[in-house]
Amino acid sequence: MVRRGAASKAGLNRSILDAGWGVFLGILAQKAESAARVLIPVDPRNTSRTCPECGHVDAQNRDGEKFQCTSCQHIDHADRVGAWNVALRAGLVLPDVA
Ligand SMILES: [Zn+2]
Repeated sequence: MVRRGAASKAGLNRSILDAGWGVFLGILAQKAESAARVLIPVDPRNTSRTCPECGHVDAQNRDGEKFQCTSCQHIDHADRVGAWNVALRAGLVLPDVA
């Protein structure tokens, strides 16, 4: 009974959080439009764990601020990798084509 209550509360909290982000994105989109800008929502999951060179996703790619791909050995700053992956997912950067 207590467990069900906890699960219900977790579900309610998740709904409030989801609605919060929806409202936030709506307001942000309006602000962007009024400034003649475009809002491009991007899924941020694993952006700092994904190699922008080869696409390999691994938690081991990241060591604090250092990023080193365990597959292709690409090395970069983790924040730069995260920003690069967000730009790639938004379609703002074309990936290198070998
Ligand atoms: Zn790689």
